[in-house]
Amino acid sequence: MATMGAKLVTAPGTTLMEQVTDGPSGFTGVEGTSGWAQEIKRLARMRNATILAHNYQLPEIQDVADHVGDSLALSRIAAEASEDTIVFCGVHFMAETAKILSPGKTVLIPDQRAGCSLADSISADELRAWKAEFPNAVVVSYVNTTAAVKALTDICCTSSNAVDVVASIDPDREVLFLPDQFLGAHVKRVTGRENMHIWAGECHVHAGINGDELQDQARTHPDAELFVHPECGCATSALYLAGEGAFPAERVHILSTGGMIDAAKAATSNQVLVATEIGMLHQLRKAAPGIDFQAVNDRASCKYMKMITPAALLRCLVEGRDEVHVDPETAARGRGSVQRMIEIGNPGGGE
Ligand code: SF4
Repeated sequence: MATMGAKLVTAPGTTLMEQVTDGPSGFTGVEGTSGWAQEIKRLARMRNATILAHNYQLPEIQDVADHVGDSLALSRIAAEASEDTIVFCGVHFMAETAKILSPGKTVLIPDQRAGCSLADSISADELRAWKAEFPNAVVVSYVNTTAAVKALTDICCTSSNAVDVVASIDPDREVLFLPDQFLGAHVKRVTGRENMHIWAGECHVHAGINGDELQDQARTHPDAELFVHPECGCATSALYLAGEGAFPAERVHILSTGGMIDAAKAATSNQVLVATEIGMLHQLRKAAPGIDFQAVNDRASCKYMKMITPAALLRCLVEGRDEVHVDPETAARGRGSVQRMIEIGNPGGGE
């Protein structure tokens, strides 16, 4: 295992790395100071690594990264990067997707315990059993799935192109849609498709974004616009509920990450409610400091995303782990389902 010493001395005889402690909720013990950021950049250069951070990461991780974005955009950046090591600050299925699209590169995640409750809501064995019940069905999977599930999938989708993907399938073929039940219900409503079976998966974060809460917010913020970022398990319920009339339609904007930043810069209202994971607020407030951005649900914080701490990123760059492995056959089959997704409609950025 390659190891690179973190040289920054913070107290007599104490290097930053010596302060890292491991616990059940991740690595802690190091603050995201400017000294830490300099050390992270130095170590990344020594490793010839580029640091990618998802929009839901802690602000200090977003600020030290070379690129910030959603999962698909980051996977594309990973594939095109000149560096041969990718440090993916996000959850595990995202780092796996980057590995699937960049099989020749070393992909590191600062803490491999950073999972995703939505991706974990269906295993490869469960999908195999479901497929056996419907042997002629076409399997459509949201990008929040493990590499093993992607390998058993015909076409991946994001919430931006889920409707186009399902509409592209022969109307006589049954569809198995997984794992997000809210996105599935939205697609079924829009396409009117009856022969579509939906897996009952969900993200723990979006359980808090409910119809009553959206209606309350609409009433108490009569001039605010609502931005919904549906490329996320935590906002697909808001997408579904907005479609059911829980918030006045003329004030609802369904936006990708990039679209949300552009809309923030162009917004005329003073207040914008945001239905997504709260990490997204950091980029929005940087893009449009004059607007009061408020989370629809300020408890919508993904504990897995927040496992990528300053201590975890330091350990990752010092010790060269945790490395993400996807066996070549699984990666090749998974790559096929992701590529079919990219060919149909505009996939946007994924979560
Ligand atoms: S917010 Fe939900 S869907 Fe997104 S990574 Fe976290 S658990 Fe998964």
